[in-house]
Order: sequence, then C-alpha cells, then structure tokens
Amino acid sequence: MTDTSESTSEHRLPRTIVPVRYELTIEPDLVEFGFDGSSAAEIDVLEPTNRLVLNAIELEVTKAWVIDPAGNRIEADAIIPDADTERLTIDLGAQLAIGRATLHTEFTGILNDKLHGFYRSTFTDTDGNDQVIATTQFEATDARRAFPCWDEPDFKAIFSVTLVVDEGLAALSNASELSRSIREDGKHVVAFADTMKMSTYLVAFIVGPLDVTEPVIANGKPLRVAYPRGKGHLTDYALEVGRFCLEFFADYYGIDYPGDKLDLVAVPDFAFGAMENLGCVTFREILVLVDPAAATQPELQSVTDVIAHELAHMWFGDLVTMKWWNGIWLNEAFATFMEMLATDAFRPEWDRWTTFGSSRTVAFDVDALKTTRPIEFPVISPEDAEGMFDVLTYEKGAAVVRMLEQYLGEDVFRQGIRAYLSANAYGNTETTDLWDALEAESGEPVRRIMDSWIFQGGFPVVEVDLVDEGSTLRFTQQRFGYADDIGEGDPDVDAELATEQWVVPLIFSSATDGNVNFEKVLLEGPSIDVDLFERIDWVLVNTEGTGFYRAQYAPDLREALVSRAQEALSPIERYGLVDDAWAAVLAGDLSTVDFVHVVERFSAETDLSVWERIIGGLVSIDRLVDGEARERLQAIVRDLVQPALDRLGTEPIEGERDLDRELRGALLDALGILGADDGARQLARTLFERSEAEPGSVDPSLLAAAISILAATGGAEEFDRFVNRFEKAETPQERLRFLNVLADFDDSALMDRFLAMTITDAVRTQDAPYVLRRCLSNRNQGPRAWTFVTEHWDTVNERFPSNSIVRLLEGVRSLSKPDVADSVFAFFETHEVPQGDKTLAQHLERLEVNVALRAREAPTLAAHLG
Ligand SMILES: [Zn+2]
Repeated sequence: MTDTSESTSEHRLPRTIVPVRYELTIEPDLVEFGFDGSSAAEIDVLEPTNRLVLNAIELEVTKAWVIDPAGNRIEADAIIPDADTERLTIDLGAQLAIGRATLHTEFTGILNDKLHGFYRSTFTDTDGNDQVIATTQFEATDARRAFPCWDEPDFKAIFSVTLVVDEGLAALSNASELSRSIREDGKHVVAFADTMKMSTYLVAFIVGPLDVTEPVIANGKPLRVAYPRGKGHLTDYALEVGRFCLEFFADYYGIDYPGDKLDLVAVPDFAFGAMENLGCVTFREILVLVDPAAATQPELQSVTDVIAHELAHMWFGDLVTMKWWNGIWLNEAFATFMEMLATDAFRPEWDRWTTFGSSRTVAFDVDALKTTRPIEFPVISPEDAEGMFDVLTYEKGAAVVRMLEQYLGEDVFRQGIRAYLSANAYGNTETTDLWDALEAESGEPVRRIMDSWIFQGGFPVVEVDLVDEGSTLRFTQQRFGYADDIGEGDPDVDAELATEQWVVPLIFSSATDGNVNFEKVLLEGPSIDVDLFERIDWVLVNTEGTGFYRAQYAPDLREALVSRAQEALSPIERYGLVDDAWAAVLAGDLSTVDFVHVVERFSAETDLSVWERIIGGLVSIDRLVDGEARERLQAIVRDLVQPALDRLGTEPIEGERDLDRELRGALLDALGILGADDGARQLARTLFERSEAEPGSVDPSLLAAAISILAATGGAEEFDRFVNRFEKAETPQERLRFLNVLADFDDSALMDRFLAMTITDAVRTQDAPYVLRRCLSNRNQGPRAWTFVTEHWDTVNERFPSNSIVRLLEGVRSLSKPDVADSVFAFFETHEVPQGDKTLAQHLERLEVNVALRAREAPTLAAHLG
C-alpha cells in the first residue's frame, strides 16, 4: 500500500519539523513510581512556524523553550496537551526560522503498571524482598508516554540517553555506557553513547536491581545478559544462542551488527514475548533464562527462536524500518522467517522447518475463515495496526516469505535481501521496495506473486489430478474454506470468495520407477496442465511443505501417496498429508471416521511433528464423544500409540535425537490422557515421585508428560502439590509448566480455585490471560471458565495487558456444545474488544465451525465407535 494519508490524517504529524537528535535525561523514582525528565531535541525546521506539534501522553510538560537557528531563546507561550490525539502543541512567543534549532522540554511522568511506555515490574529476590524495576516497552506508540517526541517510525533520529539512578542499581539503554558520575545528592548519573539513527519505538531504558553477565564478543561487539539478581546460573544458554545468531545474521545479511553492544534483558513482567530495542532487547524471563539440563526441547527451542527473532530485527526492522505501521507485518513476518533459518542453523537436528509445519497449520486455521484478513491492509491510526500482531502477520507472513525464498532459490533470495538492506540502511521503506529488490535479483515477477498473497485474505487448495489417460498432470486452485452449515452464509459472499485466485509458486515432485523429479511452475489462473513424458508412480504437490496452500488429490493419487508415505515422503510431507486430512474434516469433505482410518495407517510413524498432528486431530475427535464410544476411541488410541512408545522405550537413550526424546514424552502424554491407559498413568506417577525424591533424575520431556497426565487425571492432592511447585519453581520453565497444568484438572471445585487465583497477585498479569485461555479449552470444565470470564469481565479487562484479552478469548473456540456456544455468541453481542475486534470475529467464526463439526459428526462417530 502506498501511503496517501500522510498529510490528511489526524494521526500523522506535520512534516515541517524533523527531529535529528534527542538528548534525554530520565530520573525514575522506584518508590513513588514516577519519573522526572528533560529533553533537548535538535530539530530541522523546514518551514517558518510559531507552533510545534509532537506526541506526548500521560506526561506533564512543565517547561518548554526553543533555541532558534540564530542561537536566540524563544519561550513557549502555551503548552497544550491533548489526551485524545496524544499530542502536545507548543505555541512559541516568536516565529521560528528555517534551519537547525533545539527544542527543550522538562516533564514528569508515571511508572505505570500496564506494561507499556515506561512501566514498573516487580519481583521477589532470593532473600524474600520485594524489588522494583523500571523498564520500557514503546512499540507501537508508547515512547510518547516517556518523553515528548515525534513518535512515528519514519522520524528517525539519534538518541543520547542519560539515566539518573540510585546507587547500586543497574542502568541500561540502547548504547554502551560512556560514563558514570556521582551527583551531589548521591545519585548516579549514567550517560550512554549516541545510538545510530533509529525510530522512537526502539528506544529503551531499564533501571533496577539487575545483574549483568560478563560480556562475550559476538561479531566484534560485547554481548551480555541482564537478569533479576539471583538468576545468573540461567544465562549461559542465551549467551551461546545470542552469539551464534549475531554472527549468523551478520554473515547472512552481509552487514555487521549495527549497534555498539548488545544486552539481552530478562524482565519479570512483560506484555509481549520480547522486544527488539536496538542493543537492549527485552524479554519475558522464560524466553531468555533457561537451564538446558532441566528444559524440554520445545522450551529450549522457544528460547532459541525468540532470541533469533529479535536479533534478526537488529537489521530488518531496526536498521531498515517500515515507513508506517501498515508495514509492520513484513517486519514481523521476515523476522519470523529469519528466526527459523537461524534456529535451523544453530541446531540442525531440531529440523526446524518441519516443526514450523505446526505454525503454518495455525495460520491456515485462521486463514480458512471468512473473517480472515489480508496480511497487509491500510492502517490509518496506530490502533489499526494493533490487530496486525497476530498469527496472520507472524506465521502466515513467514510462511509466505518462505514460499517465495524456496521458489526463487536461497542464494538469489539472500542476494536480494542484502541489496535491499544496504540500499535502505538507516532509512524507511514500503513493502514494495523489498519485492522490487528481489525482482531485480531474480528476474521473477515477485511483486505480482506477492501482491496476490498480501492483499487478499485466504489461501487456495490445489487439486491434483491426472488427465488425458495419465499423460497430463492438472493442478486446479480454489479458495479453501471450512464448512459452516449452521450459519446463514451469505451466497453473494460465498460466490465472490469462490472466484479468488492466487499466483501460486508450485513446487512438486513425481516418481517414475523409483526416480524422483522436482519441478517448479507458476500456477496463475484457475488451472495449469503439465505434460508428462512417462507414467508416474506418484505425485506430491508442495514438496517439503514450503508452500502456503493445501493439497487435495484424486482418490487413486492420494492412495498412492499414503501407501508410500513412510519410505518416499519426508516428515514435513507426511505431516502435510495428515494436516490436509484434518482440514478436510473441518471442511466437511472427510468424515471423522475416515480421518481415524487415515491416521491408523501411520502406525509406523517416527516423526514428532507428524505424531503431534495425529494426536491433535484425535484430541478434537475425543471432544465429540462420550461413554462407550469414547472408550472405544481410547482403545484405538492405545493401539496406535503404544507400539510407537514401545519402539522408543520409556527411558531416554544416550545419544538419541532431542526430537525423539520429546516424542517419547508426547506419546506418553497421549497414551495416559487420550488413551486413558492405566500403565501410562502409573508410569506418570512413578516418574513424578522419582523426580520429587531426586530432582534432575527424570528426563524433562518425560517429566512434563507425567505432570500433564497427573493434572488431567488427578485431584486435590495433586493440585495442592502443583500449586506449591509452581510457587517454589527454580526456573521460569518449571514455573510455567506447573502453572499451565493447573488449568487441566477435571474437577469443578479445583477449577474454581484456580480461576480465582488468576485474578490475584498469585499469577502475573503477563501469564494469567494465557492460562485462562487454557482453562476455557478444558474438555469438561471449559464452560465453568467461560462463566468466570463473563462474571469478571471488567476485572479481566482492567487488569491484563490490553493486547492479551483477545488471546485469552481464543479459548472460546473449544466451547462447541450448543448451549454454551450460544451464550458465547450472545455475550459478544453486547461486549466488545476494541483492540482485537478482527481476531475476536475469527474466534467466533471458528467456534461456529466447531459447533457445525459437532452437529455433523458426533452422531455418526458415536454410532461407528459404539
Ligand atoms: Zn518481531
């Protein structure tokens, strides 16, 4: 999208004043939760004016004056804050001439507890004392809560930060510390070096009782981890990953890391996962502090992913930045893509592009809905962009970037990225600038391809058929959608959706006499025919699962694939077969009974992702049946899973793959809960007791499964023990593991106890929305959690970070029993979630799909299983 709103929108500041360099001095008060600040902002005055307009909110600006280009001081006549537009207007006593001037402001603000702007985060130290950290989260538009500024991403400037702090406190900002002096009153004045030219949303300052590791050198710059005191033993892994990623990206991008140092900062309260402030990246503790010996593979992988993601942003996002918030999707999609690339290089044995399949599935799941959205859409106000921080931006966006990379070729793609970054360093871009760079490098119609994926929602299913007596392969595309036979679907809308098409970069493989051939074609228009010169044994579209489309095969082609899946297909391709089969169930094209038959043929499966997809489908089916039919389903699960677990054994094997270790846990979990297997439940208890008696003696994946089984099948005794373990946990991972499973107990009194906990200080507001989401997904107790959310709606909204409310509500998708679903629909007739209305509409439509699934499938499934 080109930006036409620039001069007209009330959300865009006039371009007649351009900031160049801010000198900021900030003095936080960790006792009274406030701060004092002053700013000297060098500005270029492009037109004579006696009025300056910039952004500020929740700041009291007590003084303002300008030193004009001639060196004269002009006092402010009036300082006018406007809370609605979050603007500050400064009327000057005289006309300000064209040239370089300096705006001086003095102000005070509050350290809020809303996890945005300049805010406070608290923790209890190892001696049991309550401690306070003052920290920042500015993206998208909250720098204006900390200092008056031109708070739009293309007003890039240099920042020179000074923090005034109490003795004994750490002070961190984007650049390295230049000096530390002691003021008359004993306060420490910490001055930092100038940053590079960058956007306001990337500025950071953090003050508090933090410790900092010794630096390691990465790409020539010092890299450290900063952490709440007492947690230094959990920092080695982040240093290792950080160093690897910084060097990996410098090499990939062909540009050295643009900061002068890099701190990875663990913050006890954090609304997002992490934030890519240049040189001073902030994280939730669980995404940076970890004990590798006690963590599961997914826990370690998420630390790796998130560090990689944020460091990828140091170049893509920080060095080169979107002009306006409509471009935020590319910023995030690309960083997510690079995160996969870096994690894959860091631990090749984790097979990261295969496990990415589950992220792609989550994106497909939303994008199959009529209420999906295009990846990029016009953004007038910054709040419009708040809805962009979702699965379509991150997961679909990354999947689409991956599809393009694989179609163009990895080397060509990287060359295009390098050209784009070096041409736009320290500047701002539109999405199309990247497509043009890739087009120039590859000679392919990148803009045309990508526009079809970026500016329309949804995705195609590609049908594969053999025609002309087997001599021609025909690929046909149409928009994929779920069956929603309960809704009164608008026929006009349906007809219009049916006409939508994409420019699909198809990669397919086919086999003749055991030889496999790979081909690439661009599917434009409804279909394309490919001539075959030999008879083929099988054909697979979406080779290596890199395309963002589903596949549907003619019956005999499907059978040819399924029967050869184990020997001929890669794990991600087998994953795709199961995933497409489950999607066909939701679309009403395959029955749940047939899905069970499909997965029964995967009994020899050895891959974690494929198993997780099989189990995921069975968990959904399990929700549709009760009584004898459910018992019959449990027996089917046992028959399927037990042999796979037997092959792996119930104890870890020295030297085995991390993914096999994790698979063992996933299979045990499925056997114990979904399969209701006595042996698995007994083993879970044995493992947990062993781990309690001798910490560290049980493999983390097995232990996680054991805890999950004990919660799903346990009572008050287990609940109390787990609450205790949650409170006394030694690592952030262990803490979250015990917190999460408290949502899984199948007991109304225990559910009530846990629900009550989620709105007290027992559970951090950064975590509570996500565990409430899990409570809503509890098979039998979900409706109870729903009632709780409705009865505490105001508390929930007031207490939790605003971005998290709609994430909490994702749990309503599971409430598919008709009466509960009706109460959900009715509730949102009269209650809104303004910061996530698009996403809420998706949750509700997805719930409709589940209600329809239940109505369509439950009776026949019960009859079949009973
Ligand atoms: Zn990001």
